[in-house]
Order: sequence, then structure tokens, then C-alpha cells
Amino acid sequence: MDYNLKSLKAEEFIHDGEIRDTLRWAEEHKSDLPLIRSLLDRAEDCKGLTHREAAVLLKCEDEELRQRMYALAARIKDRFYGNRIVLFAPLYLSNYCINGCRYCPYHGQNKHIPRKQLSQEEIVREVTALQDMGHKRLALETGEDPKNCPIEYVLESIQTIYGIHHKNGAIRRVNVNIAATTVENYRRLKEAGIGTYILFQETYNKPQYEYLHPTGPKSDYAYHTEAHDRAMEGGIDDVGLGVLFGLNLYDYDFVGLLMHAEHLEAVHGVGPHTISVPRLRRADDIDPDQFDNGISDELFEKIVAILRIAVPYTGLIISTRESQACRQRVLKLGVSQISGGSRTSVGGYAEDEEEDSSQFEVSDRRTLDQVVSWLLDEGCIPSFCTACYREGRTGDRFMTLCKSGQIVNCCHPNALMTLKEYLEDYAAPETREKGLRLIERETEKITNPKVKETVIRHLHDMEGGMRDFRF
Ligand code: SF4
Ligand code: SF4
Repeated sequence: MDYNLKSLKAEEFIHDGEIRDTLRWAEEHKSDLPLIRSLLDRAEDCKGLTHREAAVLLKCEDEELRQRMYALAARIKDRFYGNRIVLFAPLYLSNYCINGCRYCPYHGQNKHIPRKQLSQEEIVREVTALQDMGHKRLALETGEDPKNCPIEYVLESIQTIYGIHHKNGAIRRVNVNIAATTVENYRRLKEAGIGTYILFQETYNKPQYEYLHPTGPKSDYAYHTEAHDRAMEGGIDDVGLGVLFGLNLYDYDFVGLLMHAEHLEAVHGVGPHTISVPRLRRADDIDPDQFDNGISDELFEKIVAILRIAVPYTGLIISTRESQACRQRVLKLGVSQISGGSRTSVGGYAEDEEEDSSQFEVSDRRTLDQVVSWLLDEGCIPSFCTACYREGRTGDRFMTLCKSGQIVNCCHPNALMTLKEYLEDYAAPETREKGLRLIERETEKITNPKVKETVIRHLHDMEGGMRDFRF
């Protein structure tokens, strides 16, 4: 079986031999400093790097070049995303699961975790609580259980969520993180109006994947790995990738992740919309010695920086699994979306979270307002923007705007206007004051006079109670 980027067979586009050759080649060239310098020079054009080129950066141990990578990642971040950080929250609908994932407490054999699925009334309570925090963008999470959590339930829940309007609140984009499914089901999710379909690969190494997933439908490596292609066939043009760093195969998975991104671009003309970089956390019924952040903070930062350089147009997501300190460092290196005020158990927003029913331990336990306030202190613009999906800027339309750099003309004003909504409706007085000062400063930076005038008008209109302006 040869490596074939455009094949629709998992083992051909995530080719074990190609990954091993890449890692060998990267190991041999990791001290070839002129080569690495030339790659970094070239990457200044923001056109990205191949998986081989990125792998050699990952292996490189030269301190000066590592600092150059970080500086370049920060410049690329600044060029495409500026100082904006988009905020979202996960919403756990159901923790019934028939899979046997060894690293997740929701695995089917865990008999002492309380199982729960939100009723539509409970969803209304959860989403109302999320709206009252100020969230506009959710990522739905469920375990896999066709009997207890069928696709019809997920579709109904999406409809319920979009229909909830509490005070000035609204969830304007629902991203979905559910198990690999059929083209037909992806089509139904698309029709339900989802934003991005996110599915983590966990690991690209097939034997390790099979070890980690001994039972249940998820144990089928090919079916899982080919899911994004099926999602795109079903009409979902924004898909998200991710691996679970900490499974001790980080270099293999790093290369696999980039090969997967290259595959999507080659076959569908659009790379992944987002890449998530979760690291394993402690959780109920999981042996902490077996899995507990197998990669250091330093290596984690390097991975984020190189991903930023290798796939400049792809959003990078980090969750509250990471501590405030770690999130602070990777914000500068390329992360563009973070979760805030997250609860990782079913029903955790409306009621106090029960420790033993969380999917993983949250390191950053601050409220959304504390996260917003912190971002403001860091000089970032917390953004609640969901405009692209609602304006039909998805898939290749989105990527074209992104690659030309034009998307910034939407992102920056939208960030300011959605932040203003947040400050008007949800912020603590101190956060509000800081936020208003930042909006004033940032509005001055808008170069297009027409856009600037429109933004100033809309900001003013919001004080009179109007909402939901966007470019
Ligand atoms: Fe189930 Fe997902 Fe947990 Fe695996 S990772 S046990 S599929 S909830
Ligand atoms: Fe994201 Fe589009 Fe909003 Fe920019 S304008 S923040 S790309 S949704």
C-alpha cells in the first residue's frame, strides 16, 4: 500500500510508512541549521509548510531557532488573527457511551459514573445559563450510544438550542463534536444548521489506536479516520481535526495531523477549519500514571507554534484542560479560540458540577467574565463573533477570504461589536470599563473610513438596546 494523499482510504492518506520516513528524515536533518533557517525564511510568506518540513522544525533542538519559530508564529498569528480571541463553551448533552476508550471516564465499562442525558427542558436550562454568562458559540459533546443518544436526539437538541432567546441572549453557532457517523447523518446535521463538525482522531497510529479503543464502533480505525471525508461528502464544509496529545506518540501524531490536513485540502479543496490541541487530563476511572500529560508544557508550546506556521489559515483551539499560565503562553503563539467558564459534565451549567461526572479535570476554572477580563489585561480582544457561518462564509469561500488576508476586515469590527454586546449585557463593572476603553482604542485602528463609521454607529445603537450587528 503506497502513500496516496488523495485516496479516500485511511491507511493510504495516513500512511504509516510515510510518517516513519518523515520522522527518520526529520531526525537526520534536525541539526541542519541552514535548512531549518531556509524553511523559516520561506514560511514568512504565510503559505504554510508540508508535514516533512514541519517535522524537522519539531525535532530541531537549537534554542536560537526555537525562539525564531516562536517569533514567526507570533507574527503569523498577528497577521491573520490580530489580537482577537474567539470564545466558546462546550455543552455536554449525554455521557452514555458504548465505546471502551481507555483514556475517557465515559467508557462503557465505567459503572460508577452517573449516566445522564439532558431532556429538552434541561437543555433549555443549560443554554439559558450559558446565555446568561454571555456565550454565543457552543460545541456540543455527546458519547456514542445509538440507543440512548440517537442522531434524532442530537438534531432535536440543536433545534432547541437555536430556538432559545433569553433576554438578549442567543446561541448563534452550534459546533458539533459527536462520534463518526454516516454521510446521511452528516447531511442531516448540515441541514440542522451546525457550524463546524469536530472529531478528534486521538491518535493516528493504528496499533495504538486499536489498543486505546478495544471495544465499540470507535474501535474501527478506518471508519473513524475517514469520518471527515464523509462529513464533507454530506455537505459539511467546515470540519475540525485534533489529536489527544499525551499518548506518548506526539511526533507521530503531529505528522499524522498535518497529513490529514493536507489530505482534506487535496481532496476537497479546503483544509480543516480548526485544529484542537487537547492534552490528556486526569479523570475518573483512568489510571493517572498511564496517561497524564505525556508532553511537557515546553513541548506543547512548540507544537502550537509550529502548527501556526504550518497551517496559518486554520483556527487553533485550546480548552480549559490547560492552566491559565499555559493558555497565556500559547495565546501569543497562535491559538485563536479558547473555551471559557467551561463545565465538562452533563448538566454542569444549570447545577453545580458533580466532580465525579466530569469528562476531564478542568485546570482553568475561572468564570467567563474572569476570562474576558484577563484577555483584556493581556491586550486581546475577546470576541463572540459567529458572523461567517451566518453570512454563508464557509468552506472554500471562507478559506479564500482567509488566505487573501481580507477576512481581517470582518473579524476585527465583529470582535469589537460582539464584545460591546457582552459588556452591555453581562460584564462585571470593572470588566465593562476595561472593555469599553479597549473598544475605543481599537476602533481608532480601523483604516477603512466607511467601516469605521458603520462600527461607531452600531456601537452607539447597541447602547440603545439594538443587537446582532455584523460584517
Ligand atoms: Fe465515549 Fe468519546 Fe469517551 Fe470514547 S472519548 S468513551 S467515545 S465519550
Ligand atoms: Fe470567525 Fe468569521 Fe467572525 Fe472572523 S468574521 S471571527 S473568521 S466568524
